[in-house]
Amino acid sequence: MRASFIKLEELKRVAVHESGHAVMAVIQGMPCYGMFFTYEPQEVQATGDSDGRFCMLVKNSSPWKKGDYLQAAAGAGAERLFFGDYEQAGSRADRIEFSAPDGPEWEATVEEARAILEGKKDKIATLAEAFELTHQNIAIDDCPDRGMNGSTTRFREMMSEERVRQIIESTGTPPV
Ligand SMILES: [Zn+2]
Repeated sequence: MRASFIKLEELKRVAVHESGHAVMAVIQGMPCYGMFFTYEPQEVQATGDSDGRFCMLVKNSSPWKKGDYLQAAAGAGAERLFFGDYEQAGSRADRIEFSAPDGPEWEATVEEARAILEGKKDKIATLAEAFELTHQNIAIDDCPDRGMNGSTTRFREMMSEERVRQIIESTGTPPV
C-alpha cells in the first residue's frame, strides 16, 4: 500500500461519521475496540490501491437489538447533525443489517440516532477534531496493522479504544 493520507475534504466527514458511531456505542453500552480502516490485502495487491473502509469496531448482540441498529445508523445520524445530510456511499456497510426481515427502517433509525446524538454534539465534535488532527499527519499505512483469527481482513487502527473512551468519558477539555 502506498503512503496514503485521508483526503482533506473527506477527512472531516469521516471524522464526524466515525465519531457518531463511537459516541452511540458508548451510550448503548456496547463493547467497542476503536476506530479502524479495514481492507483486504489481496485487493490491495491486485489494484495497488488502499481500497477499504473506515469503521468503528463494536461487538453486536445476536440477534441485533434496537441499540445495535441505532449504533449502525449513528454514523449517518452524526453527518446529518453536523452537515444537514449524509453521504449514501459512506453508509453502505452500515445498512446491511437493516435488510433483515425484522430490521427497522433505515431512514427512521438515522433520524432517531441524530436526535439522540444532538445532546452529545460537543463530544462528537471533540472526538472528530482529535481524529482529524491525528490523521492530517499520520498516513493510514503508518497506523498499527491488525488481523483477526480466521479472517484475511486487516484493520489499521486509526484511534485506539482507550483514546476514544478517554475523550468521550472526559468531562473537561481533553488533552490533544
Ligand atoms: Zn458507518
